[in-house]
Amino acid sequence: MTKPLQVSILGATGSIGASTLDVVARHPERFEVFGVSGFTRVSDLVDICIQVRPHMVALKDEAARAQWLELYKQRAPGASLPQAEIGEAGLKMLAGAPEVDQVMAAIVGAAGLQSTLAAADAGKTILLANKETLVMGGGLFIERARAGGATVIPIDSEHNAIFQCLNPSALNCMPVTPQGVTRVVLTASGGPFRTWSREMMEQATPEQACAHPKWSMGRKISVDSATLMNKGLEVIEAHYLFGLGAEQLEVLVHPQSIVHSMVEYADGSTLAQLGNPDMRTPIAQAMGFPMRLESGVGRLDLAKHGRLEFEAPDLDRFGCLSLAFEAMAAGGASACILNAANEVAVAMFLDRQICFGDIERLNRRVCDDLWPRYALERVNCFEDLLEIDDISRTLAREVAKEWTA
Ligand code: NAD
Ligand code: MG
Repeated sequence: MTKPLQVSILGATGSIGASTLDVVARHPERFEVFGVSGFTRVSDLVDICIQVRPHMVALKDEAARAQWLELYKQRAPGASLPQAEIGEAGLKMLAGAPEVDQVMAAIVGAAGLQSTLAAADAGKTILLANKETLVMGGGLFIERARAGGATVIPIDSEHNAIFQCLNPSALNCMPVTPQGVTRVVLTASGGPFRTWSREMMEQATPEQACAHPKWSMGRKISVDSATLMNKGLEVIEAHYLFGLGAEQLEVLVHPQSIVHSMVEYADGSTLAQLGNPDMRTPIAQAMGFPMRLESGVGRLDLAKHGRLEFEAPDLDRFGCLSLAFEAMAAGGASACILNAANEVAVAMFLDRQICFGDIERLNRRVCDDLWPRYALERVNCFEDLLEIDDISRTLAREVAKEWTA
């Protein structure tokens, strides 16, 4: 019998983390959890540790470690303790430990960058959910993954669908533009505000923005789905992952979220991947590749659905999508600036400091200010990107403070 693969789950307490743990639990002979990380939900992380008995756990800081230890001893008295590490160094240990085969990169936002890079440097199979790494510095990340001998398999449902439609066995798992591809179409559900007017959206609440009609996800990506920024970030993600030009990438709104994306070839064939909207499908596909594993996702019943609809996205009502296309065309650090501004804007919106309409305005304002200065600059290393990320966040906070004063 072959040894189970050792998996580290970065962001185990999140939505993708939970789906990953579910898939792992269905295949105990195939996978073992080497390490898990969590940030603020210490109690949940204790329960996960008791359930999967990892070798290592990574926590936010010393205070979180102390709380975790106390709860762990209370809930599992006498049980052996995983090695508990903290901070960025802890995340990097989970990602780069020699025992680890697969790293699920499922931390949300730019916070996931360093640990994903550590997995790239250590030559791991990276199950990439954290799209912000690619948006910030996709070119550099792919170079690092290649140099480190890593394999990158996308988890984002659209990119995983594209990966499946690109005949991945021919790709050796690494992003290369395959021969004969003329166009890639990313589908979008349209989010909770697909049919809302701009006026209605202006004052939408965090609860309304997070009530996604088709997918159950973390709060940040849910808000991004409501502004369609998520689709914008995904277009940039696809650009870097598959080496596709802006003219080859299109977005199509498909409210049923059954077709997860499509690849069009020169001979007129269009291949699509379909399935119920449940992240366990792309996770199981990526973890099992090239094998197909049972994921717990129910069968697709197209007769029950009856019809699948498609419509063009409305770039006027959803200016964040348009901004992302502009960032991709501008290149350099443009997408890094947009991503940073957007992370600040979404956090402030969720905290009820700015309104929904302000997200787009703040993003636009920061990009207008900083793109002329940094967009064309050749970004040579992640240190440069982190500096630009920091400058963008500071400006976003300052502008929002002026608005709310
Ligand atoms: P989530 O908010 O549910 O979970 C985020 C995880 O990251 C948690 O485990 C949290 O503890 C951890 N985290 C948050 N801030 C951190 C920090 N500063 N340092 C270290 N850890 C931190 O998010 P999610 O919905 O699971 O999404 C995770 C990633 O996957 C995002 O990049 C998202 O865009 C991407 N993604 C998610 C889905 C989905 O269906 N949820 C689909 C496609 C892509
Ligand atoms: Mg997606």
